[in-house]
Amino acid sequence: MQNIKDLDIAELENKLIELGEKKYRAKQIFKWVHQGVRSFDDMTDLSMTLRDKLKKEFDLCIYTIIDKQVSKDGTKKYLFQLADKNTIETVLMKYKYGNSICVSSQIGCKMGCKFCASSKVKFIRSLTSGEIVEQLLAVTYDIGERISNVVFMGIGEPFDNYDNVLKAIHIINNPHGLNIGGRHISVSTCGIVPKILQFAEEGIQSTLSISLHAPNDNIRKSMMPIAERYSINELIDACKKYTEKTNRRITFEYSLVNGVNDTQKDANELANLLHGILCHVNLIPVNSIKNGVYTKSSDERIQKFRDILDKRRITATVRRELGSDIEAACGQLRRDRLKEDII
Ligand code: SF4
Repeated sequence: MQNIKDLDIAELENKLIELGEKKYRAKQIFKWVHQGVRSFDDMTDLSMTLRDKLKKEFDLCIYTIIDKQVSKDGTKKYLFQLADKNTIETVLMKYKYGNSICVSSQIGCKMGCKFCASSKVKFIRSLTSGEIVEQLLAVTYDIGERISNVVFMGIGEPFDNYDNVLKAIHIINNPHGLNIGGRHISVSTCGIVPKILQFAEEGIQSTLSISLHAPNDNIRKSMMPIAERYSINELIDACKKYTEKTNRRITFEYSLVNGVNDTQKDANELANLLHGILCHVNLIPVNSIKNGVYTKSSDERIQKFRDILDKRRITATVRRELGSDIEAACGQLRRDRLKEDII
């Protein structure tokens, strides 16, 4: 059966015509679906006949929560079970400005970043657009509050599932549905250069983050296999083209790892690399993952690194650590459950 959340309004209209129904019903159905109804019978302004047709054609894709960890700071980490019994993680973070959700785009990840728990478990498949959207609906249902921000920074490389991620963005953004503004949706990539250039051409308002994590090719290659495919100069060139085309600021994510990429020399090299780019640097004290080789930089090293960027007029902030008392590193909850072979 087809997941109704995979369909945008135009596709729903076509399906309704096929079913011998009026196409204007599509907006009504889309609205119900994205209000998070749990049954077709809850779509009370549709005829019983239409509800029955929908039940025969579609699945509502309701996730089962199989684990939930709640941090003292309000961060909630969910392990959801999908229809095919696979599991994915979603994290809810509470900020003063509202609820922000970090969604997964794939079941596992092929990219193999050394600092990431997701790279330690097998890649299974990409999520459909509906499976991405369902993460927002399932969390909204659980907390009974609106989600105002979405970041594609959970398990998976969003640009390795480009079409479904883009479709999910359009669906999340739709005023008849969740109506989350493009500026409140952010996509993070480890640096798939052709897709960065493609994303620049989409004409959407969403923001872009780049997992950079190193100031040069040598360090980047030691941390991220993707650096073997695209050099740091190719990546930075694509970022420049993106900002020129969209006039949108890029965020560079930089996980500070003790003794690997956190020296004052590294900070200066990073400042040279990013000079003149419309950007912001998000410094992330790396989460230690079980059996991982990386450890967190000291507060003093983090502060020195940031001071150098400040002096060199590169805007940088240190990300507040949320959920540090739960398994908050991306992929950790799922990995612990799966008990798969750890590399
Ligand atoms: S950091 Fe992102 S791209 Fe890299 S392995 Fe983890 S999920 Fe994949």
